[in-house]
Amino acid sequence: MENQKNYNVAENGPWDSITRVVLRDTLSLTGAEISANRIPAGKASPFAHAHKRNEEIYLFTSGKGLFWLDGTIIPVSEGSTVRVSPACVRSLKADENESLSFFCVQVEAGSLIQATREDGIISDIKPAW
Ligand code: ZN
Repeated sequence: MENQKNYNVAENGPWDSITRVVLRDTLSLTGAEISANRIPAGKASPFAHAHKRNEEIYLFTSGKGLFWLDGTIIPVSEGSTVRVSPACVRSLKADENESLSFFCVQVEAGSLIQATREDGIISDIKPAW
């Protein structure tokens, strides 16, 4: 029987050095789409979009900008987190003087049927450190 690892690792470099990395590809994700993104200062998403089935969770890690959500514009900056329903039409724009960096987690809306309390298993194995 082949010994298969139970984890994947991808080194992406400093987040500020990337424009876009799709972790579904680099980590072979099976239940979520996660991307790391950076919109340069003064730039915007090339298009507005919605989704058929997936909700998105945006986790802003640096910079500031504007989030256009069904016609409503909200300011976002480091520490902002936003959940967007599939049908919501969305677009992002970075501040004129600062790039906007964020992770976007995409999962099927309504698919979370267990979370840490129901799914976690405390192990008896102790790490060596
Ligand atoms: Zn999307």
